[in-house]
Parts: sequence; structure tokens; C-alpha cells
Amino acid sequence: MRPCPICGSTERREGNGRPRAGCVGCGSLERQRALAGGLADLLVPTGNGSGRVLECAPNSPMLLGNWLRDRGWHYESFDKRSFREPFHPGVFDRFVDHDADVTDMRFARTGGYELVLLQHVLEQVPDYLAGLDELARVVEPGGRAVLEIAWRRERPTTEPLAPNKHGHRWVIGADVLPELHARFASVEPRELVDEDGYKGTFFICRPG
Ligand SMILES: [Zn+2]
Repeated sequence: MRPCPICGSTERREGNGRPRAGCVGCGSLERQRALAGGLADLLVPTGNGSGRVLECAPNSPMLLGNWLRDRGWHYESFDKRSFREPFHPGVFDRFVDHDADVTDMRFARTGGYELVLLQHVLEQVPDYLAGLDELARVVEPGGRAVLEIAWRRERPTTEPLAPNKHGHRWVIGADVLPELHARFASVEPRELVDEDGYKGTFFICRPG
């Protein structure tokens, strides 16, 4: 077992029915370890930007807020209270800064963030293209959005889904790629794996 890239622990525990989902040391999930381990170079301020990072739907005070603060960021997070609170009561008092839908981030200044992070949210958003509009709006020139999107690249088109227990509304297909290109000057899909073989596609999106 390789050490967790966030805290160094080699111990894992069951989570959401997956035997080794959670890190015992920091509570991170596979997708967060894949991000931290695979894109470490993008997760530090460049020194040429604002040093401000915005995360959508953070997991805990440590993930990724405290971890990113330790890496030199001025950190903010947001989530949709009416969606999140039933699952995780009290998170807005503890570590979520803004109550906002990803399709209406009026708290966030246009071009206000050097780094924008989102993992596995868009498939839950009824108007996910409006969410992409907003994510692109708030990235500053020279900055980047790192968007993990659970797409099915073998499917040409995004298809609606009967809402399931995870609140999933869409099976996102390959047509998300041109939608990203329409909003960002460059889009680089990166396949990342965690130490247990979790695979995710992280789109590194940069404005013009
Ligand atoms: Zn850890």
C-alpha cells in the first residue's frame, strides 16, 4: 500500500460499501487521493496569480481546505445547502463558506480565482451546462479549473437519468468535451488513479 498523498497514512477503511475507500489518517476518499497524488504540481499557487482557490462541495475541514491552506492558498468553498445539509448536517457552520448552486455563483467575482476545484458534482446538476458557464466565469486569466467529471466517453451524448439515491441526474457522455472547449481556451483530460486502482478523468481547463 502506497502512502496517502495527503497525510501519509497507509491504513484504509470501508466507506460507502467500498472496502478501502477512506484513509484512516485524513478521511480522504479515492478521488481526493487521485487528485492530490496525480496533480500535485497544479495544486500549489504559481506565484503569478491571486493565490485564491475555490472548491465546490468540500468533504471535511481538512479536505481539501486545510490541506490547501497548508500549501499556500487562500481557500474558499461553496455548496448548495438545501442539497447538502440533509446528508451532512452542520457542514455550513463548520467548513463550507458559501451557500450557492454551481449554476448561480453570485458570491464569486468574475475571474476571481486562480484555481477552481470540482469533483463529481455536475452529474447531479439539472442544468449542468449553466454550471460549466459559472465555473469558467470565475477562473482568473492564467488560472485553471480542475474538474473531475464522471463521463462515459464511449457514449456520444449526455443522457438524463431517473434521479437515484446519489442525486444523479445525468449520464455524461463525450459531448461534454466540446462543451468544455466552448468555455475554455484549453482543455486537457488527465486519467488519474489512486493507489487502489480508482480511475477518474480530471479535465484541466484554462481560460484564454
Ligand atoms: Zn490520508
